[in-house]
Amino acid sequence: MNEITVNLHMHTTYSDGTGTHEELAQAAINAGLDAIIVTDHNIWVEGIEKYYYMGEKKVLVLVGEEVHDQVRQPQKNHLLVFNADQEMSQYAPNPQNLINQISESGGISFLAHPIDPEAPKFNQDDLSWVSWDVHGYTGIELWNAMTEFKSHLKGYVPAIKYTFNFDQVAHGPFPDTLSLWDQLLAKGEPVVAVGGSDAHQLQGSLGPIKRQLFPYEQHYRAVNTHLILTEPLSGNLLADKRLIYQALATGHAFVGYDLPAPTKGFRFSAHSDRKDHIMGDTIEGSQSVTLQIKLPQAAECLLIKDGEVIKTSHKRVSLIHRVEEPGVYRVEAYIEFKGKRRGWIFSNPIYVRE
Ligand SMILES: [Zn+2]
Ligand SMILES: [Zn+2]
Repeated sequence: MNEITVNLHMHTTYSDGTGTHEELAQAAINAGLDAIIVTDHNIWVEGIEKYYYMGEKKVLVLVGEEVHDQVRQPQKNHLLVFNADQEMSQYAPNPQNLINQISESGGISFLAHPIDPEAPKFNQDDLSWVSWDVHGYTGIELWNAMTEFKSHLKGYVPAIKYTFNFDQVAHGPFPDTLSLWDQLLAKGEPVVAVGGSDAHQLQGSLGPIKRQLFPYEQHYRAVNTHLILTEPLSGNLLADKRLIYQALATGHAFVGYDLPAPTKGFRFSAHSDRKDHIMGDTIEGSQSVTLQIKLPQAAECLLIKDGEVIKTSHKRVSLIHRVEEPGVYRVEAYIEFKGKRRGWIFSNPIYVRE
């Protein structure tokens, strides 16, 4: 299996982040990532994509965009655009047209932080997705690290606590976002889940607190999207870019919170008569299908079918399930960290159809 670790959804000095692409690349190499996908607000930055090197180590920097209608009040509907290779922000006023234009240019799109509650004490608006009549997008950002931080900003005491203790911020995707995803999946089409950092490395003044908030490198060690590629990365920009976007488009991916323990090595696969399938795949016919889950270390594991937990295991590294009926099967794993049960791994589904 050609697994790579990717951090996606982040901002540079081209929008409201404070780092340059070179600085992001450095931080990504330090954190041991294989690739990052930069998504500045309403600007597609051309001529940046390449492998950045530090000695023998390297990281692939790809450039997408986070588009929203800047005129709309209130501001909503942030969309992550990947692989369109052209400016897309002019289509922002009509989300469906935006999604269509991205598809027509060979790109893929993800609804960013679909549920994003406001933090009025800190002048942070609700930036949720609201145009739910859209179709044809690739998936959703199931877990956004900065949205989760924002959700903790209920007063100065928690704001200070979470600002100075990044390792306590993440608990998992919001339960509402998980059930939203299950509802979308219930419509019968694949919806790919990714995890985003939304890293900005803000020069923060959060009420009385003034400091650099959440350096890029800190984010790169936290909520990542792990991809299973059909071939290993070769070091060639165009070939590797194709492999990465192919894996994202097909949901050959899981969201991993790598801070408590590395999630690398997680596998969710299905085996039917002589054929093997992985996350994101569709299997026609539920006869003699076995699902197999492998965790990188012993933890709590939930197997979910059509939004309902059907099997759990504790303190074990594997779980096997014989499929009895069609459904959308996915996995969640939880781990103890900093005195709390925290979301660790969220797989994309395996779709077993009639
Ligand atoms: Zn956003
Ligand atoms: Zn963002």
